[in-house]
Amino acid sequence: MEISKELQDAINDQINFELYSGYIYLSMAAYFESINLSGMAHWMKIQAGEEYEHAMRFWDHVTDRGGRIILTDIKGPTTEWDSPLAAFENAYEHEKIVTERIFKIGKLAEKLGDKSAIPMLNWFYDEQVEEEEQTQRIADLLKMVGDQKGALFMLDGKLGQREK
Ligand code: MG
Repeated sequence: MEISKELQDAINDQINFELYSGYIYLSMAAYFESINLSGMAHWMKIQAGEEYEHAMRFWDHVTDRGGRIILTDIKGPTTEWDSPLAAFENAYEHEKIVTERIFKIGKLAEKLGDKSAIPMLNWFYDEQVEEEEQTQRIADLLKMVGDQKGALFMLDGKLGQREK
């Protein structure tokens, strides 16, 4: 079934938001590099790459169903955070917004009786559980670390090992 204009527009908007998410995480990577936490910077760069993949997954769904991709301005990200904890808490809050947005697309697909979008959306529901869990867990670890420099560098080293 060809994608409806309404769902196509909602997904185009989400493609922009996924790219914006990637831009935020790249900005966080730059922030972490500026305070010499190269492991966290590495983690954020991989996260930014994932957001690009999310955008492309939505993209393929639209084009596979005869829709048209429209790219628009990507908002500039925040460039400074008060602490590594503030950055990861921001990432967690941001992912909760992403989840809400994808739920809204799901409601729209349901309203339109668009069953073809469901498997793609189900993949994103699972993915968002993971995105929220990861960012929240790292924020929790950073709370435990507090102002212990040794523990912070140990966590930085661990996050620097992220492969995908
Ligand atoms: Mg995403």
